[in-house]
Amino acid sequence: MSLQWSDKLAAWTELNVREIAAFEAASLLRIGDLLRRLPRRYEDRRCSLSLSEFSHGQTGCLRLHVYSCGWRFSFKRYFEAVLGEENSSLGSRLYLRWFHAPYIAKMIATGQNLYVYGQAKDYAGKLCIVNPDFEVVDDDSGMRLAELALGGSLEGAAEPVAGSVLTPQQEPQLLHSNRIVPIYKALSGVTPRRYREIMWKIIQELNPEIRPSYYDVASSYPLAEALRDAHFPEELDKSRKARLRFALAECFVQQFKVQWRRRCSQRKQGQQTATTRYYLEQLHEALPFTLTSAQLRSIAEIEADMRQPTVMNRLLQGDVGSGKTLVALSAMLLAIESGKSAALIAPTQILAEQHYAQFCRLLKGMDIPISLRTSSRKEDSELIELQQDNINDGARIIVGTHALLYKKNRPKALGLAVIDEQHKFGVEQREQFIALDSPPDLLVMTATPIPRTLTLSIYGDLDVSIIDELPANRGSITTALRSPKQMKKIISFMRSELEAGRQIYIVSPLVAESEKRAQASATAEFERWCAEFPDYSLGLLHGRLSAEEKDAVMSAFRTNDSSILVATTVIEVGVDVANATVMLINDADAFGLSQLHQLRGRIGRGEHKSYCILLSEAKLADPAWEKLDVLCRSNNGFVIAEEDFRLRGPGDVLGKAQSGLGAIEFPEWLSDSRLIHRANREASEILDADPDLLRPEHMGLRNLIAEQIEQAVTA
Ligand code: ADP
Ligand code: MG
Repeated sequence: MSLQWSDKLAAWTELNVREIAAFEAASLLRIGDLLRRLPRRYEDRRCSLSLSEFSHGQTGCLRLHVYSCGWRFSFKRYFEAVLGEENSSLGSRLYLRWFHAPYIAKMIATGQNLYVYGQAKDYAGKLCIVNPDFEVVDDDSGMRLAELALGGSLEGAAEPVAGSVLTPQQEPQLLHSNRIVPIYKALSGVTPRRYREIMWKIIQELNPEIRPSYYDVASSYPLAEALRDAHFPEELDKSRKARLRFALAECFVQQFKVQWRRRCSQRKQGQQTATTRYYLEQLHEALPFTLTSAQLRSIAEIEADMRQPTVMNRLLQGDVGSGKTLVALSAMLLAIESGKSAALIAPTQILAEQHYAQFCRLLKGMDIPISLRTSSRKEDSELIELQQDNINDGARIIVGTHALLYKKNRPKALGLAVIDEQHKFGVEQREQFIALDSPPDLLVMTATPIPRTLTLSIYGDLDVSIIDELPANRGSITTALRSPKQMKKIISFMRSELEAGRQIYIVSPLVAESEKRAQASATAEFERWCAEFPDYSLGLLHGRLSAEEKDAVMSAFRTNDSSILVATTVIEVGVDVANATVMLINDADAFGLSQLHQLRGRIGRGEHKSYCILLSEAKLADPAWEKLDVLCRSNNGFVIAEEDFRLRGPGDVLGKAQSGLGAIEFPEWLSDSRLIHRANREASEILDADPDLLRPEHMGLRNLIAEQIEQAVTA
């Protein structure tokens, strides 16, 4: 499906320069790109009504005769056509009205028969459709029809081609009415009608032998037929069947990659560590608390993996605040006892620095060299040069950011790599380690749980440990939805918490005032709150500060030298200040549910009761209200993830960054576990039978994998 379209398609469909530019602007460069762009939905425009059955509020398609037409004036000028059943000069009438459409006058004429589609409205006793979709079926008015048949509804479109004038007996193929009509996502520069006509041409010319590029998941249902059924279905059932086929193909590719990754790493010789627990026991004894049984269980699972000569690929899932960092540190200690080094990779510099400080504190007296390696301290650029002596500083425990992922920065003798907040990275990061000759054990951690049905798609190549309990010493979090009108009360509540010695986060969605949406900016917020609490010290944290500035602001807050931290979502992940008990979130409905839950995870980390205040103008029963109410009712990440998924659908929940899945074309099927299992089964059958993909029929799959490895290695 990689046919270049420009020449052929331009010839078939008489694309004009403007349209070609429109396609190029939308990166639709090949026929395959257009074929893959399936309709967003379908409208059943099959004629089933007569005019006498058609009434106010109804939407439908009718075949009618034009009895008269012309320009009318009331408060505005509009073109009106008066229609009735053919051969019923006195029967009921339907009025079609077009505003701002001078070209319509050239298309509609008395005596024509039209298919008309739209919603009927009663205006002063007249049944009308405003701006209806229509198609001329036959014509005794002497007008040239080619223009219509070829999609001349475009204002200023090219002149119809000479010789293509249709006689009244020849009914042009109807694409916009009296059928199930595909509705595509709008493409700027090409009208919906024109787009449909171009697709129709392509589908007509489709080679019936066309094959999928990688592997055919449903060879009994030819691709060309499925494409036809998806774009111009004769029955809605057929479009469903076709979409299912494409969804299966998409799931298959995903499952295939996942299984390939898994099998590859299983075949590799990994690191065999965790033979002694000397450091580990020292750490656990020194802790001021006991580990939860879920933490201990996870550590044991990790330890068992690390002892194996095969590579560990494990996901540690646990809600915000469940204590994943200690599990990670325990694993790192197990790795270094065998003479290896261990690295923790965090998504932000703030978080890396925090982990580093915490590790130094926890390992004090153990004489383990620890090093912090992040991007250059001034700029947040990811491509950094680590000092050579830094790489060889003899550190056994290394904490850093993305920079560590680059080949030249990779620590020596790496026995274990931990990726914190995996949902902030993508699958490719894992891939980079797996591609190594002697890959380290890999532990990825996430606090963003995903619905169980999706785990297989996203983390199917990983074994999973789950921390399903929070440490016992946690004060509860109360979450409330408040309107900005209640600000006075909120402020007095904040003051009482400050007086009790607690600290407060104030979070806003944007850094600077955006012209488009007048959301409260963190900077303006900061000034406002300084004025509100002149007797307290406040900090301002956002992504545009330099690393030193961020550092200073964070450490002042950590040491309780500042009482209020006004911030953007840079504090979303990881930040750990147990004395902070209040979080005020401005414009809460601008955030997604999972993100709000993450943010809220910054409080409730100590023994004090905590409060999360969601500020929003949302009214009872607004979708935004429904969304925010989920947070008020639940503090369980899994419940929230399921709700988020239900409210927004998987496509939006799983952005590329979150899932590493790339663009998902059929998100509606991602949660269909039967489909995923079928794809999974199919992928394993292939890999069982042909583990190295040497058979000629698996050439496409081999290319798929090769592309992927190339991406990972060059990243
Ligand atoms: P997350 O899972 O969100 O990464 P952290 O690892 O940052 O959570 O842990 C949150 C806080 O809980 C830290 O201050 C940590 O020291 C503390 N903590 C971790 N485990 C326990 C425990 N078993 N009992 C009490 N506090 C704990
Ligand atoms: Mg964490």
